[in-house]
Amino acid sequence: MKNLDDFKRVSLGVLPTPLYKLEHLSRETGRNLYIKRDDLTGVSLGGNKVRKLEFLLADALENQATTVLTAGGPQSNHAMLTAACAARLKMQSILMLKKRGVLEGGNLILDQLYGAEVEFIDTDSYDDVYAAMEARMEKLRAKGLNPYFIPVGGSVPLGCLGYVNCAREIAAQAEALGVKFGHIVSSTGSGGTYAGLTLGAKLYLPGTQSVGIGVCDDPFETIALDLMQGTAVLLESEVSFGPKDIKIHYQIGPGYAQPSPEGMAAVQRLARTEGILADPVYTGKGLAGLFQLLEEGYFPEGENILFVHTGGAGALFAVG
Ligand SMILES: *Cc1c(COP(=O)(O)O)cnc(C)c1O
Repeated sequence: MKNLDDFKRVSLGVLPTPLYKLEHLSRETGRNLYIKRDDLTGVSLGGNKVRKLEFLLADALENQATTVLTAGGPQSNHAMLTAACAARLKMQSILMLKKRGVLEGGNLILDQLYGAEVEFIDTDSYDDVYAAMEARMEKLRAKGLNPYFIPVGGSVPLGCLGYVNCAREIAAQAEALGVKFGHIVSSTGSGGTYAGLTLGAKLYLPGTQSVGIGVCDDPFETIALDLMQGTAVLLESEVSFGPKDIKIHYQIGPGYAQPSPEGMAAVQRLARTEGILADPVYTGKGLAGLFQLLEEGYFPEGENILFVHTGGAGALFAVG
């Protein structure tokens, strides 16, 4: 197997992020709940995409890209963080966003602040967005520019390495704290974070099961396996895994990026017990999933459970 440190990676985040016990929430639920603060990755409002972008933008730099293009919903945390990281690396960013949902405020304010060019595409389908990106890249090339394409969420094997790396970080922190995690729980939107953590758990956290809380109705069981396979190939790893390693629970509510009562209650609960912000689109629903599993008795008594906080606070300010 290759060493993770052999891959080109540009240092963008402030890592490692903190990992500690949620004392109040643990007392309240009678369980041992820990948090990995990837909402504090150190660029902009923080969040999981910074870890993926460390590998993706290293590849862009290697390819001497002038311009980074990516896609998402209008309030995409991934698009916003791509703009922030690209600015830091002196690359232009073009964000091609679906013209659906909240079209002002929130992350769109930050996109402007980071100097990104934002283009709205009036469609429900990413196929249309990707076709528009292809056309745009052709135009850029004709002008002598060198575009670099990052798909939705940065969920390609290279991006997943960011979360294999996070699992390695968790393993070191768990050892330093003298705790062993039975489960790690994270929100799943395009699958890369979950795939990276699940593969990373196989490599660095034996005995720890990774659970994903799906916030849209994509089939993450197959998406995650495909991404894990691709990432294992990149790593030249022979670690064995299969469908039994994938545990996905869904917390979609009325739909992707639409607040749910359970998600908003979880946002409020985390804010009021621990003073930590979660968001209505991803981490609130992720926590709601965790609380539901706790209530159902999913986790064995006495086990240590880690919630990986993937960020997203910008969406709290996108109301419309
Ligand atoms: C993108 C995102 C996720 C989901 O990560 P994926 O790798 O796309 O599954 C979770 N939380 C937040 C805040 C995000 O921005």
